[in-house]
Amino acid sequence: MKIRQKSMALLCGVLCTGMMAVPVLADTEVQKYTNTDFAMDTVVSETLYTTGKDLNTTIGEKIREIETEFLSWTDENSQIAKLNAASGETTEVSEELTGYLEQIFQLAQDSDGAFDPTIGKIIRLWDITGEDPHVPEQSELDELLNDVGYQKVSLDGNKVTLEKGMTLDLGATGKGIGCDVVADFLKTQKDVSGMILNLGGSSVMAYGEKPDGSDWKVAVTDPRDTEGDYLGAITLEGGEFLSTSGDYEKYFMEDGKRYHHILDPKTGYPVWNGLDSVTVVCDSGLLADGLSTACFVLGMDDAMELLEKYNAEAVFVDEDKNVYLTDGIKDRFELMKNTYTVKDAK
Ligand code: ADP
Ligand code: MG
Repeated sequence: MKIRQKSMALLCGVLCTGMMAVPVLADTEVQKYTNTDFAMDTVVSETLYTTGKDLNTTIGEKIREIETEFLSWTDENSQIAKLNAASGETTEVSEELTGYLEQIFQLAQDSDGAFDPTIGKIIRLWDITGEDPHVPEQSELDELLNDVGYQKVSLDGNKVTLEKGMTLDLGATGKGIGCDVVADFLKTQKDVSGMILNLGGSSVMAYGEKPDGSDWKVAVTDPRDTEGDYLGAITLEGGEFLSTSGDYEKYFMEDGKRYHHILDPKTGYPVWNGLDSVTVVCDSGLLADGLSTACFVLGMDDAMELLEKYNAEAVFVDEDKNVYLTDGIKDRFELMKNTYTVKDAK
């Protein structure tokens, strides 16, 4: 997913004429700053509107900090790495991580384990993004599935206990958490009037508004033509977050089958249910990200109740080139490819 901004030059021209009479001090004019950065193993695109200084570098650093402090598997000093290393014992985690874990485990429960942050070892076994992506032996999967199950984790305030051998993987919510942290930071910056932040094309935060009042628009990737034209675009309001999970992000092909990175925690296999991608919009980055993964695993029918519970909207794209929209997104989705057909999600 990439950001596209509608050209509002004409409209701005009209509005600006009306605003001429208002004296505007040069140093209070809203400036636009754009930047491309790298964090969480992905490209970060930032567009900031502010009357103050350019904060894009600081924001990139904040996202890298979340990774090293909380989420990283490889950095042994991260809180998740420490938790995993201490499986079988009780570990105290920070207030922030406690808050994230509470939401993550609630979502695991609400999705009946379709979203399950304890599938870490199975993800490593497939090594889909690593040196040796391969279909594992069933016996290996069966053994590791014994260490999967969100119910086996105990959360008691900031005290977390994983059963011996279990590992947590917050990969399905990491970018969403990154978006939330940036939104919270922006709320403390009185000079900032708006920002759109895009983490790796799959998690987007819209904050505040653009100076000309035009919409934040986010493009939706065609899951079977990821380098080509966009499938469509969604309008976001400031305070909304969008996240996409798809079978095209990370995968390998073998014998004509697409082995991708979204796994069914019950079988340990990639999910093949006819969906190519799910995009979710709601008022939390963590939840948009977690819900898009959960809905991809559940399939559209079972996802509807979950979306309602979280007051979230979604776009489901299936292998037959149907685009299903929930009620609250119909008026703000624009189809850009006539090879797809838009329908109501039910
Ligand atoms: P992306 O990280 O590409 O934006 P997702 O948000 O859908 O995509 O997250 C996919 C990642 O989440 C996987 O790489 C893996 O680490 C983890 N994951 C895969 N399947 C599940 C699942 N059923 N529940 C929780 N996490 C999952
Ligand atoms: Mg996700």
